[in-house]
Amino acid sequence: MIDNLPPLKQVIDTHGLAAKKSLGQNFLLDLNLTAKIARLSGKNEDHDVLEIGPGPGGLTRGLLAEGARRVLAIEKDERCLPALAEIEAAYPDRFSVMIGDALDINPLDHLTPPIRVAANLPYNIGTELLIRWLTPPDWPPFWDSLTLMFQREVAQRITAEPGSKAYGRLAVISQWRTDASIVMNLPPEAFSPPPKVSSAVVHLKALPTPRFPADAKMLQHITATAFNQRRKMLRSSLKGLSAEIEDHLIAADIKPTDRAEQIDVERFCALARSLKSQS
Ligand code: SAM
Repeated sequence: MIDNLPPLKQVIDTHGLAAKKSLGQNFLLDLNLTAKIARLSGKNEDHDVLEIGPGPGGLTRGLLAEGARRVLAIEKDERCLPALAEIEAAYPDRFSVMIGDALDINPLDHLTPPIRVAANLPYNIGTELLIRWLTPPDWPPFWDSLTLMFQREVAQRITAEPGSKAYGRLAVISQWRTDASIVMNLPPEAFSPPPKVSSAVVHLKALPTPRFPADAKMLQHITATAFNQRRKMLRSSLKGLSAEIEDHLIAADIKPTDRAEQIDVERFCALARSLKSQS
């Protein structure tokens, strides 16, 4: 046992936390597993940890048992409050909960740097949150690292290399500003109820400065547009961005006849700089 609180199965039964599909609820019930994920986020004795979607609190308990200085959790489902209150009572002053939608709440006033993010994310908002965390106008961001559970296919898109099928906007944006790697694979049976697909934990460590200079909005716009029509040549998929798109592509060392998946992060950033300089 990692703590003196009841087993998660009992917590779920006691508080009537039948999983809701609409909230992406697939709970981790093995506290040894959640403690392992907590360790993958780093040694958090000197860090506040932001957790999105604690649910009945498996990962929360892992983070606290592994010594996080403080954990702040944002949970949309009010039904989880009594279970989370039990954790609050067991770890006075180290754990607090905000009830609401993680897409609407700004938790920064309640966190003290340095900060890490760890979450078994609800799949419906996972990529949107990731993109937001990766694309503030200024860098470094409020967090040192993100340790996040995704569907395995999304995890592969985050860490994909140029030229592969999974390579796209998520890979470019993630690898532009972080070192990103898959640190754990989980089968569906690790969750209750089991989802249809396998999952993976991705660890993203913020680089002190982005790998190459570029404007975050421009880079997002270019990659979204280019990969939206990934089979087309870039001179055609990106022609809406500039009347002189071929000149910009050549300035970025990109052949106008290349396709998006052939272009590495460095050249996408060069293209973003060239297009930004015209606006
Ligand atoms: N962390 C728990 C675990 O590992 O067992 C639960 C993970 S479950 C995949 C996702 C959690 O996110 C659920 O508790 C769900 O209620 C919560 N959630 C869903 N949408 C949310 C949102 N927009 N903001 C905050 N929490 C959300």
